[in-house]
Amino acid sequence: MNTISPVLEAKQISKKFQKVQAVKSLNLSVYPGEIFGLLGPNGAGKTTTLEILEGLQVPDTGEIFMKGLDIRKHLQEIRKFSGIQLQSTSIYEKIRVKEVLDLFSSYYKVSTSSDDLIAKVSLQEKSRSLVKTLSGGQKQRLALALAMVHDPEILFLDEPTTGLDPQARRNIWQIILDLKSQGKTILLTTHYMDEAEQLCDRIAIMDAGEIKLIGTPAELIKQLPVEATIRVNLLEPILPFPTLPGIAEIKEEGKYIKLGTRDLTQTLRALLTLPESISQKINFHDLQISRSTLEDLFIYLTGKQLRE
Ligand code: ADP
Ligand code: MG
Repeated sequence: MNTISPVLEAKQISKKFQKVQAVKSLNLSVYPGEIFGLLGPNGAGKTTTLEILEGLQVPDTGEIFMKGLDIRKHLQEIRKFSGIQLQSTSIYEKIRVKEVLDLFSSYYKVSTSSDDLIAKVSLQEKSRSLVKTLSGGQKQRLALALAMVHDPEILFLDEPTTGLDPQARRNIWQIILDLKSQGKTILLTTHYMDEAEQLCDRIAIMDAGEIKLIGTPAELIKQLPVEATIRVNLLEPILPFPTLPGIAEIKEEGKYIKLGTRDLTQTLRALLTLPESISQKINFHDLQISRSTLEDLFIYLTGKQLRE
């Protein structure tokens, strides 16, 4: 991937508000066609970073290039191929869905028809409805459509699914994946680790204005000492519990033993082929495996929960 030039490149960007250093010397490259996620808790600096990249806020230091253009000099040009969905889009409420799309389209020389946009975000039945009558998920889809009116190559989405129910979140995910399949580049922020894991090709884990790690979801999980935890229910104590291959840690919890493994396949194979004298003491009906998640990684990196 790195032989291709990044569509967006940020070098050493920083931003301070009074006493809060919201963004600290952050470096970031986003490549064409990828969904890149900034994942972090509230206050991590995600919105500030995104707004700096969008040219909506001026950083104290650093430079940003989009398609090789310096945003300090070429913002007008950059606006033509980038689309922005703000974290809390306050769309004028006494206007109808199709009308607001037509209004936004009129700002651009080249734009997609409002009917096409309405279809893309599945708001056909709401096309004549007032914005204020839309549900949270429908408003969020309208905000996405508004970011898409000029058919931008790069889309910035700030917490596109925050506050939505699971079905509405999935609808938004589908729209984002459709955009990716059309070759768009998407930079989004989220504090949902499942969203980052499901949608993003690469993720930057952010906390207190800094990027702690960048990688694909699989690369990130590999940074943890434990790939998965196997919970074994003991019918009788097994003392000592045999040291199985791959095991990084063993914890006792009442009648359970928790085996943290760095190689799930290897450890499971060994567990299932223990000699009968040992295996008869294990209740295999109650064997549980939980794979490590980005949430575990976040706690490991920062000592904090992702959602506070
Ligand atoms: P996130 O989007 O990850 O929740 P933000 O970028 O909104 O984080 O905020 C990062 C930090 O900067 C927070 O501590 C926030 O309170 C502070 N902050 C953001 N915008 C402003 C502002 N306009 N004035 C003062 N402080 C701000
Ligand atoms: Mg935010």
